[in-house]
Amino acid sequence: MSKNENNETNFGYKNVNKTEKPEMVKGVFDSVAENYDLMNDLMSLGIHRLWKRGTIELSNLKQGDSVLDVAGGTGDLSILMSDLVGKSGEIILSDINEKMLKLGKARSLDKNKLNIKTAVADAENLPFPDNRFNCITIGFGIRNVTNKLKALKNFYRCLKPGGRLLVLEFSKPESPLISDLYDFYSFKILPKLGKFFAQDEESYQYLAESIRMHPSQEEFKQMLESVNFKNVSYDIMTAGIVTLHIAEK
Ligand code: SAM
Repeated sequence: MSKNENNETNFGYKNVNKTEKPEMVKGVFDSVAENYDLMNDLMSLGIHRLWKRGTIELSNLKQGDSVLDVAGGTGDLSILMSDLVGKSGEIILSDINEKMLKLGKARSLDKNKLNIKTAVADAENLPFPDNRFNCITIGFGIRNVTNKLKALKNFYRCLKPGGRLLVLEFSKPESPLISDLYDFYSFKILPKLGKFFAQDEESYQYLAESIRMHPSQEEFKQMLESVNFKNVSYDIMTAGIVTLHIAEK
């Protein structure tokens, strides 16, 4: 690999310098933040709520547990987990983007989820001690991270031994027919929905492209194993449009 290729990563279908990607991703989420929850419901016809519920059901959380929700954005997963860990537990809703996090904080207070704290944090450099959390979640966030292995190493470090990582992410549909339909929807309809409802076609084009660039289920499983996670498995949801990877320290 040439030196130049080493410094490059993908931002959707574009090749960009690794140092440029975080700022570009920030630009996307600054731009979509205000309409983020509405667009999630619109784009998935509300199905994202089922994916998130399905994730939490496999979290094994109990009262008193400590959870880190990485790239938690407007807080859907954190809010769902709040009652599972209760008053004696804690959820840290974290994100690199202050605008998204501010919305998450407001929503969690609105829903009276007082055990949710917020922290600005980059998945690649988590500002938390080793062996700190019973569970780490990341929902629809990992594909935006520049150095995914570095982030996975951080998750491993911050989990307690026996702790559980849940990675929910868009993935590759299994059937060629669904794949074709999904491509049509993602590239022809999704950016137009973004343009119409959020006056932002470009961010939703990035969304579609970034999903296609994300590793396959098996590749991502191998990435998790390569940083020492054990009992790595995955659950395919909605014909493979979304996959939940589960791993243990
Ligand atoms: N987890 C929420 C959900 O499922 O609705 C939000 C997901 S949103 C699609 C992706 C989030 O990842 C954004 O809020 C973005 O700011 C955040 N993000 C992107 N890169 C990140 C990084 N390196 N570290 C932490 N968060 C990051």
